[in-house]
Amino acid sequence: MSEKGLLLVISGPAGSGKGTVVSDLMRTYKGEFALSVSCTTRTPRPGEKEGIHYFFIDREEFERRISQGKFLEYAQYCNGNLYGTPMDYVQNRMDEGISVILEIDVQGGLQVRKNYPDAVLVMVAPPDFQTLEARLRGRNTDSEEDIRNRLLRSKEELAKLSLYDYAVINRDRESLKAAQEIHDIVLAEKRSVKRCPDFAKKFYGEE
Ligand code: 5GP
Repeated sequence: MSEKGLLLVISGPAGSGKGTVVSDLMRTYKGEFALSVSCTTRTPRPGEKEGIHYFFIDREEFERRISQGKFLEYAQYCNGNLYGTPMDYVQNRMDEGISVILEIDVQGGLQVRKNYPDAVLVMVAPPDFQTLEARLRGRNTDSEEDIRNRLLRSKEELAKLSLYDYAVINRDRESLKAAQEIHDIVLAEKRSVKRCPDFAKKFYGEE
């Protein structure tokens, strides 16, 4: 019933596999979702591409954009870098009826909730802590210190689960199932009567 796109926040600690789940969602339900590309002051990892994974900008430019109000939300991550969601892109896609996915951390998700109470917040969680640690170590791109920080941060993020709307477990090799569950959540939210209070009026042709 809701024709406007939803603002869908997908968070999950590093190692939850949310990136894979989001790729599965985009691929399986082509045209239904747009992925917001964030800006960051972090340096690119091998293979990461400008405008696809992130817009890589320096701190000075990031701070300029903050002061110009160009971010829907932004946060400083434990690696000291800033990450932010560009406002314009998100608004335009939602107006076109496309749901926009923000793949952001919990701090950012809660900022979005404050500014946009209609946003739907989904946490992608690993099945258990051992799986989380194994995934982080298996990635082989981060230093030991970085891994420890991410593990600590993961615990803090999962502790805030109750502030989210939905939790979806991403088991090894079952990311597609997690993606399907998120698609079901979006459909249910779009059918929610709270999102279309004027439905009955329109039905009877009343103003
Ligand atoms: P990474 O350095 O691993 O790419 O990202 C670190 C963390 O920053 C992840 O939890 C990721 O979801 C989060 N992140 C990425 N983009 C944004 C953003 O635009 N805003 C916020 N608040 N977090 C973001």
